[in-house]
Amino acid sequence: MSVCAPEDAPREALRHEFGDLVLLPGLVDSHVHINEPGRTEWEGFATATRAAAAGGYTTLVDMPLNCLPETTTVAALEAKRNAAAGQCRVDWAPWGGLTGHNQAHIVPLAEAGVSGFKCFLVDPGCPGLTMISEQELEAALPTLARTGLPLLVHAELAEYLKPGSDTDDWLQYSTYLRSRPDESELAAIRMLIGLCRKYSFRLHIVHLATALALEELAKARDEGLRITVETCPHYLHFFAEEIPAGGTLYKCAPPIRSRSNREALWQGLRDGVIDLIATDHSPCPPSMKTGNFRQAWGGIASLSVALPVIWTEMRERGLPLENLARWMAAQPARLAGLEERKGSLAAGYAADLVVFDPDAQFTLGTEDLHYRHLVSPYLGENLYGKVRATFLRGAPVFHQGSFPDPPIGREQIRIKSYC
Ligand SMILES: [Zn+2]
Repeated sequence: MSVCAPEDAPREALRHEFGDLVLLPGLVDSHVHINEPGRTEWEGFATATRAAAAGGYTTLVDMPLNCLPETTTVAALEAKRNAAAGQCRVDWAPWGGLTGHNQAHIVPLAEAGVSGFKCFLVDPGCPGLTMISEQELEAALPTLARTGLPLLVHAELAEYLKPGSDTDDWLQYSTYLRSRPDESELAAIRMLIGLCRKYSFRLHIVHLATALALEELAKARDEGLRITVETCPHYLHFFAEEIPAGGTLYKCAPPIRSRSNREALWQGLRDGVIDLIATDHSPCPPSMKTGNFRQAWGGIASLSVALPVIWTEMRERGLPLENLARWMAAQPARLAGLEERKGSLAAGYAADLVVFDPDAQFTLGTEDLHYRHLVSPYLGENLYGKVRATFLRGAPVFHQGSFPDPPIGREQIRIKSYC
C-alpha cells in the first residue's frame, strides 16, 4: 500500500468514495478460538472469518485449543492449515500450545511458523492442552526464550480457585465470581513476573480481568522485563453487579468483575500498562451455554461486535479513535510478529482497511453477529459505530452487508524468524 493525496493517485487506480467516513487500519485480533478442525460445529474458519470481516478485523490469530487436535505439534498445525485453506475471508496466523509434555515440539513449531505459544496455569477443560505446572514451565522456558517468541499465559493459579460446593446457589453470578477470585490472577502474575526475571522471555498476559495486578505489572515493565498485557471487550463493557441470575451467556474465565474494576482497567489502557484489546472470541453450541454458572461453558463470542462495543465505551470516556487503532490493530499485530505489514495505515503495509461510521447508532441484533451460533450477551445493547466496508489487501471482503466471493484470506507467517 502507498498513501497519497487524491490528486496524486495514479489515474488507473480504482476509486471508492466514502465521503466523511473514517478509515481505520484493518483490526488484528490476537486472541480467537476458531475451533476448526475438530469442533467446527462450535465455530469454524468460514464463520469466524465472516464475522471478523463484518466486525472490521482483517487478521485473526488462532488459539491452539478447542480445535482437535490441539496445536501442540507440527502435525496438528498442518491439520489446521489444511482445514483453513480456501475458506477464510480474512487472514489468520497460528499460536502454538505449550503443555508440560510437548517441550520437544517448541522448536519445530517455531520453525513451522507459529507466532508464539499459549499455556494455562489452570485446567482449560481440554484434554489435549493440559495445564502446565511452575516446575514444567521452568523446564520449558530456556528453550522458549531462545525462540524469541512470546509466551501467552492464562494467568489464574489453580490453587487459588475456590470451587465451592453443590449446595451453593450457582444461578447467582456472585457465586461464580467468588469461585475465581482476584487473588488467583494476582498470584499467577506474581509467579510469572518472577519467571520472566529469571529466564528473560517475552511474557504476554492474556485476558487480564483484575485491575489489582496493574501496579505490579507496571513496576515489572519499569524494571525492563518484556511483558505485554491484554484485556477483552467483555471486561471493558459489562460488570458483575449487572449480570442477572442465570445469565450464563456472560460466563468466561477469568470472570467479569466489579464496575470499579472495569473503570480501573480503562485507566490501565490509558496509562499504557494494558497494551491491547483482544476479543477472546470463544463460541460453543448454544446448548452448552445454558444451565447454571457451574455447568455452562465459559466463553464469549464477540468478533463482530468488539469494535462498536469498545468505541461506544471510548466515546463515553472521551477517548480518540487513534487509541482504538493502537489497541486493536497495531499492538496485537506487534504481539504476533506481523507489525511490518499489518495493523497500520502506512506505505508498505497491506491495504487492510475498515470504512467506519463512528456516529451511526444501532441496537445490536442477531443480524449483526455473523458467526456460527447467533447467541450473545451483547444482544439488545445500544451501540455507536458501524463498519460500512472492510478491505483485505485492497479487495473488499465485506461491503454493504455482503461478503464478496471468493474468500481471499490466507495464513500470515510472522516476519522475524526465530533466533
Ligand atoms: Zn481464550
